[in-house]
Amino acid sequence: MSYDAIIAGAGSVGVPTAMALGQMGVKTLVIEMNPSPGQGENKHAIGGVRATHSDPGKILVCRRSLEIFSTWQDRMGDNIEWLKGGYVFPVYRKSDEKMLKGLLPIQKKHRLNIDYIGSEKIRKIIPGINPKGLRGGTFAPDDGSISPLLSINAFYRQALNQGVEFRFKERIENLWCDKGKLIGVKTNLSTHKAPVIIDAAGPFSPQLCRTARVDLPVIPDSHEGAITEPVQPFFQCMVVDIRPAPGSKNYYFYQNKHGQVVFCITPDPPIVGTDKRETSRFLPQVCARIVYLLPRLKNLRVRRTWRGLYPMTPDGSPLVGWNRDVKGLLHATGMCGQGLMIAPGIAEVIARMIAGNTTQDDKVILEEFSPYRQFKAQEALK
Ligand SMILES: Cc1cc2nc3c(=O)[nH]c(=O)nc-3n(C[C@H](O)[C@H](O)[C@H](O)COP(=O)(O)OP(=O)(O)OC[C@H]3O[C@@H](n4cnc5c(N)ncnc54)[C@H](O)[C@@H]3O)c2cc1C
Repeated sequence: MSYDAIIAGAGSVGVPTAMALGQMGVKTLVIEMNPSPGQGENKHAIGGVRATHSDPGKILVCRRSLEIFSTWQDRMGDNIEWLKGGYVFPVYRKSDEKMLKGLLPIQKKHRLNIDYIGSEKIRKIIPGINPKGLRGGTFAPDDGSISPLLSINAFYRQALNQGVEFRFKERIENLWCDKGKLIGVKTNLSTHKAPVIIDAAGPFSPQLCRTARVDLPVIPDSHEGAITEPVQPFFQCMVVDIRPAPGSKNYYFYQNKHGQVVFCITPDPPIVGTDKRETSRFLPQVCARIVYLLPRLKNLRVRRTWRGLYPMTPDGSPLVGWNRDVKGLLHATGMCGQGLMIAPGIAEVIARMIAGNTTQDDKVILEEFSPYRQFKAQEALK
C-alpha cells in the first residue's frame, strides 16, 4: 500500500501527529511494534504538562499543548484527567532565586502566566511545606497534569476518525531509501511506501535512522516513577525541587485527580541505557527528599513503581526537522523528559511543515529544535 506519510511509532509524539495529519487529509499510516498506543515511553510519564520553560521555542510549543489538553474534554468529550494545578518551583537557595527570577522576562515576553511569589503564598499552595529557609518560588497557575494513557487513547480515536491507519505488533526494520530519497519502510511483516517518513520512535530513533545511515544524538537514559495510595486532595500543583543532592538532581511530584501522589527523580549521574528494571535505590532516595520537603506525606504508602526511558539529547531540547541527506525523512524525536507536554503542540507544527505553511512562531520553534544546531547551550529547566 502507498501513503502520503508513514509515522514510525504510536507514542507520545506519533499519535497526536497522526491526528494532526489526519485532520489535514494526509493519507497516513502509523506503524508500532507494541500492541496498542502509548506502550513505549508515553505510559511511563507521570503526567506533568507545563509551559514553564526557559527557551522561547519550548514555551511556545507547550503553550499550545496546554490549550489542547485543557480544552479537550469540552471540545471532544473525553475525560483525560486534566487538572489545572499549576507548577511551583519552591526556592531555598539564593542562587535558585536569582536564576528563576532571571528567566521571568523571557517567559513573560512569550506570554507565560508566571510570577515569583513569597514564601507565605507558597505555603498556602503547598500546605505543610517545610518552611525552614523557604524564600519563595515561581508559580505558573496555567500549567497542570493529565493522564498519559487517557490522552493518547483520546488522540488515537480522533486519528482513527480522521481515517489514519494503524498497524500494531509490526516493527520497522529498515528505512527504505534509494539514492538519498525515501521510498518507504520495510517491516518484519511487509513493506509500505510513502515519500515522507516521520521518525517518532523516541529512544529507538537512533537504531531506526541508522538503517538510512543517519546518526542521531539521542541517547536513552532511565528514570523511575511511582504512585501512592489515594488520600484526600490537599495540594494540586506539580512541585519541582531543583536542588541537587547526592545521587540526584531535581525531583518532582503532584497529587492527581484521584488523590494519589505521583513522583519521579532525576538520577545524577544519568543512568544511560535501556534497562527498565526497577531499582531498590529509587524509593529510599526520592522518598527521603520528598518527605523532608513535605513532611505530612510521611505515612503515605507507595502502590507501584516503574522505570522508563528519556530519549535524551546533548542540550535537553528535542530534535525536530527534515533530514538534509535523506529526502523525506522528518525527525520528531529526542523529547527528553518532556515528550508528553511537547507532543500535541509539535504535532501541529509537523503537520504545517508537511503542508508547507509554517508560521512565524513555528520558525522560532524549529530553529531551537533543529537537528543541525550546535548543542552548545543547556536548557535551564530541562
Ligand atoms: C519516569 C518518567 C516520568 C516522565 N514524566 C513526564 C512528564 O511528567 N511529562 C512529560 O512531558 N514527559 C515525561 N516523561 C518523558 C516522556 O515519557 C517521553 O519524553 C515521551 O514519552 C517520549 O515520546 P516519544 O513519542 O518520543 O516516545 P514513545 O512514547 O516511546 O513513542 C515511540 C514509539 O515508537 C515505537 N517504536 C520505536 N521503534 C520502532 C520500530 N522500529 N518499529 C515500530 N515501532 C517502533 C515504540 O514502541 C514507541 O511506542 C517521563 C518519562 C519517564 C521515564
